[in-house]
Amino acid sequence: MQIIKSFKSLRSQIHRLKTNHKSIGFVPTMGALHEGHLSLLRKSRRENDITVLSIYVNPTQFDPKKEDFSSYPSNKKTDISLAKGENVDIIFLPTTKQMYPEGFSSSIQTDHLTDSLCGRSRPGHFKGVTTIVGKLINLVSPDVMYLGQKDAQQAIVLAQMVKDLNFNTRIKICPTVRETDGLALSSRNQYLSIRHRQQAPVLYQALRRAKHQIRSGDVNSRRIKQSIRKMIEQTDGRVDYIECVDVKNLKPVNPLKGKILIALAVKFNSARLIDNIVVNVR
Ligand code: AMP
Repeated sequence: MQIIKSFKSLRSQIHRLKTNHKSIGFVPTMGALHEGHLSLLRKSRRENDITVLSIYVNPTQFDPKKEDFSSYPSNKKTDISLAKGENVDIIFLPTTKQMYPEGFSSSIQTDHLTDSLCGRSRPGHFKGVTTIVGKLINLVSPDVMYLGQKDAQQAIVLAQMVKDLNFNTRIKICPTVRETDGLALSSRNQYLSIRHRQQAPVLYQALRRAKHQIRSGDVNSRRIKQSIRKMIEQTDGRVDYIECVDVKNLKPVNPLKGKILIALAVKFNSARLIDNIVVNVR
């Protein structure tokens, strides 16, 4: 496994691999790796000759005043050994100095899809995500990029960016990996107190209950969201948003019809957790 920090050596490695017609799978992450990240790496390993993992906590996708950039969990040593265990070929560890050199003044922004859900409650977040992932795609030139369904809006926004800007990369969205009690794995779960860790599975429980409510014939979005809110409010969790949106354009749908993404964000003190479920409403 190669650990690469400079753009120059990454570029020459990628050039060598492309010349030898190797297919490249890419998994961009912010580190603090867990089984969710590892599931993406395994899929990439199965489907490509070479797997590149990037670890970079991108400052521009955090709100400098309100969010957890400076305390975002980081454990390079453990990450490197986990990546080795998954037979990753290249770990790319860029620095902020390289990513955002003095005078940096360009960005990528995807409109419309970023108006709702996390885009609404985290202004500027997706501009940071699309800009950094656009840069990473240019550097790594992957054939396939692997993303997680846990961050559904992010995956949809990035798929739109790749399509709109003609990046020569396919996107594959992989299922959310969960703890046995249903909590979606997330680097941010480390912030949870013991009490809040016990309560946090309520996100998925409420989503499952909502799916059941819809399957039983209730297609009123307002009532579905209210049922979810009621369950969350029985815990210490504070609802940031609960939305039922069309899975393609992320616009609110009522009455529920077609392929619906039910997505929510809940805060347990400083830990902001997100989760979602897709329901096919006939
Ligand atoms: P992050 O390091 O949180 O930015 O995540 C990097 C990638 O891993 C993103 O594509 C996420 O959607 C994906 N990911 C994070 N958590 C999970 C999970 N529990 N299951 C599947 N994929 C995940």
